[in-house]
Amino acid sequence: MALVAHDKMKDAMIEWVTAHAPALAKLDLYGTGTTGGRITQETGLPVTCLKSGPLGGDAQIGAMIAEKRLDALVFFIDPLSALPHDVDVKSLVRLATLYNTAMAINEKSATLMLKALDNN
Ligand code: PGA
Repeated sequence: MALVAHDKMKDAMIEWVTAHAPALAKLDLYGTGTTGGRITQETGLPVTCLKSGPLGGDAQIGAMIAEKRLDALVFFIDPLSALPHDVDVKSLVRLATLYNTAMAINEKSATLMLKALDNN
């Protein structure tokens, strides 16, 4: 599973990861640089950190989707700010749609997706 959060959503991501740490610990976790770094630092869960999202980390996740190396993506998108790299979000939504990859964009959908993965 890959984990990405826009800056204003990073605290929410840490909270969500903390609340679901036992289930997440069973998965191979990837994250964009800043999100992944904070998760590892603040929750102790091992996350393979890619580049920071705006510097290519989102594109690396897109490549993982295209190569079918990713089962699920949680992307906590900031709904209230104009996003300077909005194209990266669009690209991930497009690739996740194209490759039928599970993608969650808020806490509730992420929790449902994680439960489904945990039961498999
Ligand atoms: P970041 O990237 O985790 O490196 O901040 C997130 C993003 O794509 O905005």
